[in-house]
Amino acid sequence: MPLIRGGNLAEDQWVHRADDEPLPDGEPVIVSLDRWKRDRETLLTRNAPLGLRLKSDQAPSQVAGDLDRFGVVALEFPTFKDGRAFSYAKLLRDRHHYRGEVRAFGHILRDQYLYLDRLGVDTIEVKDARQADEWKTAMGEYSVFYQPAADARRPAMNLRRKVAEALKPSRPDFEDLAPAGDVPPPKDAPPKATPARIAAADAKVRTFSHKYGHLSAPKLMAAMIGTEFIGNIALVSSFGTEAAVLLHMVSEIAPDLPVVFLDTQKLFGETLRYRDQLVGQLGLTDVQTVRPDPERLKALDPKGMLFSSRANLCCQIRKVEPLDRALAPYDAWITGRKRYQGRRRAVLPVIEAAEGRVKINPLAGWSKDLLDEYFTEHGLPRHPLEADGYLSIGCMPCTDRVRPGEDVRAGRWRGTDKDECGIHETPAAQSLTSSGL
Ligand code: SF4
Repeated sequence: MPLIRGGNLAEDQWVHRADDEPLPDGEPVIVSLDRWKRDRETLLTRNAPLGLRLKSDQAPSQVAGDLDRFGVVALEFPTFKDGRAFSYAKLLRDRHHYRGEVRAFGHILRDQYLYLDRLGVDTIEVKDARQADEWKTAMGEYSVFYQPAADARRPAMNLRRKVAEALKPSRPDFEDLAPAGDVPPPKDAPPKATPARIAAADAKVRTFSHKYGHLSAPKLMAAMIGTEFIGNIALVSSFGTEAAVLLHMVSEIAPDLPVVFLDTQKLFGETLRYRDQLVGQLGLTDVQTVRPDPERLKALDPKGMLFSSRANLCCQIRKVEPLDRALAPYDAWITGRKRYQGRRRAVLPVIEAAEGRVKINPLAGWSKDLLDEYFTEHGLPRHPLEADGYLSIGCMPCTDRVRPGEDVRAGRWRGTDKDECGIHETPAAQSLTSSGL
């Protein structure tokens, strides 16, 4: 396959090998992730360079600990509309600090070449060697860039915002984590709670705290689900590292309880598979997967890269707004926050009110040890990424491993001041982090 490097035709030293093909001695080969997982020990004994091929649903995080073993990582672009490999290229360079060759193959257009280059992609496999000259000219055709990349060039959007801020001296300096409040809410946003509803929820919290505040987590949940909010309460679960504990309790109390799961469409594939595993194992019958409004995504995040420029707005449209819609039918909801997670959760009450709803935090007082014991006692499966160092798991682009000694949530939005998922004046958002989201 012809290869383009720096706009020029280059000789390709590497050979793609299928999963069932033999690997000739001394030949630099590129193998699939599946083959790497299957034959890892054997492949490590080969005396020849090794490359890795990732499909568009295989994030580099799946092999993060081994990336420095590969001389090349080849990213597949299966269709024009599938842009996940753009994100993977950026993650390889920015997050995993991969310094080997990154190459792209599959359905790639000439007009995408410059952006791939800016993301740190070194080489592109093309079908026709005559394309090299054509592609080379693509590098000099653009003077304005719309996407952030691995290089230092500011996207036009950021430049425009910076200029706008500079013209308004009373406002603070440009900030990538600008609040999302400057974007109007969607037309179908649920109405805000009335003062009467807020007062009613506050009164319930006072009564319930006195009546139920001393109960164990399962008994408290049983009282809320079976007595106080029959048919009017939901659990919000991220299906993250500790989610199985509450889900197991729900399975024993009321397996048909509505469980709201926010699929931001930026989650790890492992989380989706873990959700399916737990739902099947625990026999949960009403897990409601809630997704962002496609119209909002089209208008505000058409490239799917908003997380890298305006993370708060990204969380707003991918988490806060869908959650607000999902919770609209309920007067109460259950979250998985714990005090041991620290920061603003260190003083978390077991029962609280927010914007006219009662929120139950049954695990508020639980320690990590207690959670681990519960997993063992009930034979619950662990999230597949936990053993790999992901102690708090949210969206793939915004979740990193936690190093020894770090806070459990240190891997979330690493390198930024952001440690919450949304607009904190929105009660639903205040609790998203608690649910592991
Ligand atoms: S966690 Fe990251 S990707 Fe997920 S919604 Fe928030 S900013 Fe977007």
